[in-house]
Amino acid sequence: MSGYDLRTVKAMQDAGLVAEVRFGGGFCSEMRVQLTPDQVIGYLDQGLDYVLRLQGIEPDEFEEWQQTDGRALCMETLKNGKLCGNQVASQCSLDNWKRLHRNEYCRTHGG
Ligand SMILES: [Zn+2]
Repeated sequence: MSGYDLRTVKAMQDAGLVAEVRFGGGFCSEMRVQLTPDQVIGYLDQGLDYVLRLQGIEPDEFEEWQQTDGRALCMETLKNGKLCGNQVASQCSLDNWKRLHRNEYCRTHGG
């Protein structure tokens, strides 16, 4: 049970106040997500992880996206067992990064 008041949030949005969460930015364009009143309550209770999951993104994926500065990396596993560190695309939006990261080969590996 949330301690926040859905009725108030609804009234605010009915009055034209937009609830928009922004995250990312820096190496690529900022992500902006507008929330419904129910989602505002979810966000207040659970934080950014809640909004990420609405977008189909797990919090650890978001963290990796930030750590790689939006660079999507090659999917090849090297002889030493490590994943190839070459990039297949840079400065990806979160959506593009999720689609490409460890799903494509770099030029060296036939991409
Ligand atoms: Zn590679």
